[in-house]
Amino acid sequence: ATIPVITVDGPSGAGKGTLCKALAKALNWHLLDSGAIYRVLALAALHHQVDITQEEALVPLAAHLDVKFRVEQFHTQVILEGEEVTAAIRTQDVSNTASKVAAFPRVREALLRRQRNFRELPGLIADGRDMGTVVFPDAPVKIFLDASAEERAERRRQQLQQAGVDVNFERLLAETIERDERDRNRAVAPLVPADDALVIDSTGINIEKVTEIAVEYIRKKL
Ligand code: C5P
Repeated sequence: ATIPVITVDGPSGAGKGTLCKALAKALNWHLLDSGAIYRVLALAALHHQVDITQEEALVPLAAHLDVKFRVEQFHTQVILEGEEVTAAIRTQDVSNTASKVAAFPRVREALLRRQRNFRELPGLIADGRDMGTVVFPDAPVKIFLDASAEERAERRRQQLQQAGVDVNFERLLAETIERDERDRNRAVAPLVPADDALVIDSTGINIEKVTEIAVEYIRKKL
């Protein structure tokens, strides 16, 4: 029998991270935060002053990326070349750089096997943009979580505010829209629901309700 996967794709700030953590905890399954891998690659490129417009310079960096995820009880630490970068990969600069390096087909290809290696028993919750379309096309359960750009930017603003970072809403909204456009319009692995995905629009509904809808769907499908 194949190892089951639940894919959760969608734009930034739709609530995928929260949903995936809740599902991984409820099922006691492994969790893949594929966005963190693209973020680590972006940070590594910035550290090593690799030209982020040059696909051929990024491919070897992606292929040899020394990233580890240290799973603790309540959160996961991200380690790049032995250094803890859990917070460093969440800056706005890294978000934007990640979506630029992620647009290169050969960069994505270099990270493919690394992502598929997360598929381990008893099962995997996979969070990203192309989990259901490219990385795990055979997943038995696929969810696409969406929300309006305004709501996603507002959630992000609240998160940042709680972390003590004051940000300009208009700028956050503009960057959210710009990053989504880049993810939706790229030639390879664009952000799009898989044909067989359940689309949940979380605009105006809280995460508890979203989790409830997802859990009910998963119960029917598994
Ligand atoms: O999900 P997160 O916001 O951390 O992802 C950062 C960026 O990485 C996204 O904007 C997207 O460009 C890229 N990404 C991707 N494919 C994935 C996950 C993330 O292209 N599966």
